[in-house]
Parts: sequence; C-alpha cells; structure tokens
Amino acid sequence: MSIYDKYYPLGLGTARFPISNPNDETGIEESVKLVLCALEHGVNYIDTSYIYSAGMAQTVLRHAFAQTNRSYGVTLKVQYGQDKTADDAFKRVELQLGMMGIERAAFFVVWTIMSYDEFEKITQKGGIYDGALKLKDEGIVDHICFSTHAAPADIVRIIESDAFEGVTISYSPINSTSMQPVLNAALKHNIGVVVMNPLGGGLIPQNSNYFSFLRNESDKSTVHAALRYEAAQPAINIILSGCASQEQLKDSLRAFSDENTEPDYKRVERVNVKLKSALPAFCTGCRYCADNCPKSIQIPEFMQSYNMLQFEPSRLYNHEDPELLKNIHLFRRLVFDFGILPENSENPCVRCGQCEMKCTQKLSICDALDDIYSRIELTGCSKDAKKARLSEIFDGKNYNKVGFYPSGGYSNAVLNFYREFFGEPEFEILMFNSSPHLRGSMVGEYIIHSPYEIAELVPDAILVTSYQHGAAIFDSIKQYSDYGIDLLNLHKTNDVPWVW
Ligand code: SF4
Ligand code: SF4
Repeated sequence: MSIYDKYYPLGLGTARFPISNPNDETGIEESVKLVLCALEHGVNYIDTSYIYSAGMAQTVLRHAFAQTNRSYGVTLKVQYGQDKTADDAFKRVELQLGMMGIERAAFFVVWTIMSYDEFEKITQKGGIYDGALKLKDEGIVDHICFSTHAAPADIVRIIESDAFEGVTISYSPINSTSMQPVLNAALKHNIGVVVMNPLGGGLIPQNSNYFSFLRNESDKSTVHAALRYEAAQPAINIILSGCASQEQLKDSLRAFSDENTEPDYKRVERVNVKLKSALPAFCTGCRYCADNCPKSIQIPEFMQSYNMLQFEPSRLYNHEDPELLKNIHLFRRLVFDFGILPENSENPCVRCGQCEMKCTQKLSICDALDDIYSRIELTGCSKDAKKARLSEIFDGKNYNKVGFYPSGGYSNAVLNFYREFFGEPEFEILMFNSSPHLRGSMVGEYIIHSPYEIAELVPDAILVTSYQHGAAIFDSIKQYSDYGIDLLNLHKTNDVPWVW
C-alpha cells in the first residue's frame, strides 16, 4: 500500500505546456484543453509548481479545474532556499492554492532536496517541514512528500528517516542501476515513488535505435518500452509525462492502455540483463572500482556521467549546439544527479591503474577522466570557475544596488555561491521577475519586483542569471543601459548551467 495506490500510473507534468510567455492566451487555452483531456482519460495525479510553463501552469490548472468534476491529486511545492520557515511554507502554499483556485491539495512536496544536509535544514524546528506538518494537521494537505536530485545514498537516508510518505525521483533505464537502492528503500519503508525524467531528459527518444533493446514485440516504440520498464518496477507508482500537446499525451497513455504481453517481473529481468550487455562501453554503475582510488575520486559517478557522451544529445535549456549539449548532459548527470561539483579543473587522477584493473566493462577510466576534466575547464563547471566569474562581474565595481533577474532558485543559488566565496554581499539586492503572479511577493527576505520597476529603482547593475531564457531576458531589458545600468550576463558561451 502506498499513498499513490488510487492514482493512474501516468501522471501529468505541467512544466512543458505550450506557453511561450505569461500573456500567451492561445498557449494557455491549449494547455487547459490538455489538462482536461488528461483528466478525461483517467490521469489523476498532477505535478505542478508556481514557476512552471512561464509561471502560468497553475493558472491553467485553475481554468481546467473549474471545468471538470473529475477527481485529481495535485502538488503544492515549497523549496528550501526560496522559503526557509514554517511561515514561509504557509505563505507559499496559500499563494499556490489561490493560483489554482482550490482550498486544499493532496500533496505537499518539499521540492528538490539536493542533499541529506539540506534535508536536515528543512526538518529543523520551525522550518519548512514543521510548516508541512501544521498544514496536514489543519487538513489543507493530505500527504507530505519530497522530490529530490540528491545522490542515491542521500535519498536512501532521507527515506529511512520516515519523515515522508512519497518521493519523486529522476529515474529511467539510463540510471536504473544506480537508483536501485532507492527503490529498495522505498519498498522497505512503504514510501510511494513518482518518477520524473522517465525518458532520460529526452535521450531515449532521441536515441531510439540505441535503446531499441528495451522493446519487446508488443511495445510500439522505445518510449513505450521505457515507460513500461519503469512502471514494471514494484516500487514505482506513477510516471510523470511532461506533455506539450494532446498527441504526446495520448501516445504516453497508449503505453499503459495498449496490449502488454510481458509480465512485469519478466520485463524487468530481461531489460536488466540487456542493460549490462547492450551498452558495452557503458559504465553500469556496478561500483567494483569504487573503494580503492588513492585520490578518492568518485569513479562510478564520473563514469556514469561520461556515458552521456555516447548519445545524440537532446535539446535542453533552449540550446542547440551539439557539443555544448553533450557537455550539458554530462554535467547534468554529474552535478544534478550525483551532486558532485568539482573544486577545480585539475584532474586528480594519478593513473595508478587500480580502477581499470577492476572495471567489469574494461573501460579506459583514466582517459575518460582526462577528457571530463578538460570539459570542466571549458564549461566553467567547477567551484573555482564560478568564483572567478563572480569576481570578474563584481570586483572593483563598487555596486551599491544589484538586481537579480529572474528571481527564484537560480538567483538564490548564485547568491549562495557569492556568500560562500566572499561573505554577505555589501550591495543591496533587488529581485526581478516577469511573472505577474509573483510581483510583490517575497523570495526569502526580498520583494519580487516587476521589470517595469527597473526605471524607478535604478540598480547599478542587473545580473541576468537564467541559463534557459538569458538571451530573451537580456533582450527585454537592454533599453535600461540608457539609464546607466550595467547589464550583465552570468553565463559565457561554453558554460553549462550553474543550477540544474
Ligand atoms: S587510476 Fe586514477 S581514478 Fe583510477 S584508482 Fe588510480 S587515481 Fe583513482
Ligand atoms: S567498475 Fe567500471 S562499469 Fe563498474 S562502476 Fe566502475 S567504471 Fe563503471
């Protein structure tokens, strides 16, 4: 029994609605139809947040909910960093309930826990978790869950705390071996599991020939086979599909409604065997190399990230350059999935060869590490590179007032890097966001301003932190350089994101 037992195995993700900006009425209408179509077909778990789909996902849901009698369970998200206290959690929940036009919701989700350390902060007295408990006591939410991109070992520890009833994890055949301990822990502790990124961030459809071994004779596509493999795991209850159109939604639904000739346990067994043999130069995450490195390099995590270079990279974060996309996929896995942000770009490997002797796949680990570290240098994916970038932006400028655009987790993370490297900023911080819903609300201790207020507030500089929409934001505020405001871009051309 899990809290997700009454839910359809396909859940609706709301981050990819076809909405280009908050004023895109056609996109909003299409998205409302998409939600209604999902509900009509029995989908009843909806994963959402106040920033998804240009900040309009919850507005879409409000319109859809007003037009249906279908029952559903929807998430309310509260993220550590954006919010810290129980009061913050209450306010964030009120905001989202208001946006969706509902009075209560099934799931409070502590959003994107990145590590066990962060979990400990969340569960401190008076913190977000206390807020969740009060909301549950008051009947405003039914269940307290979390979503996470922490390392598998940290997720297991969080599950073992028994603080939560459900967890949302990134899971696909690409990381299924390394995530198996998480599924085992969830089953043991009776924690429901929702899967995000079921297609490996688009890598599986993009490389459907490569992954054709997932299919059996009744699977109409590699995508269906991947979804069925995930649904066949005894620990997994719901697989999220982030649909941009009704066609995509209906295709995902067919994976669950069309004939499926293979019993779940056989499918899991078959695919697990093939995962080992079908990907010969692929690190399987077996961890035989893990414990004897004299430099304590986390070899399985680096090598599983290096796997990503074998695929045609899917488009991510609005970028198209294939080499940049390969690096984004590589470091997304290393930093986002495994929580490893290298200190600098110097490869610590001394080529002692111990790991290569033990590697079950006979991989050239030393050469792979050389390549990874040269990519770290190129893409600024280390703490030292971030520190150097922030120095370049702020040193000697004597800014008194700096705007961060957009407000949200990305800007918070950049500020946290700043604090870690240089201490508390001496400049005043202003937060800007184009979402009309966020104007006047708080992000941590800062009020969120509309970009229309830039001329009135006149910061000395505005730092555009968004990796995905940086170019569009930069373009939308370029006229403010006439006010003597320095317009700054956090990212350089070859950079991978700072936040994932
Ligand atoms: S060859 Fe490099 S990575 Fe492998 S065990 Fe030796 S130092 Fe560690
Ligand atoms: S032994 Fe080889 S295949 Fe196994 S985790 Fe280490 S690098 Fe990967």
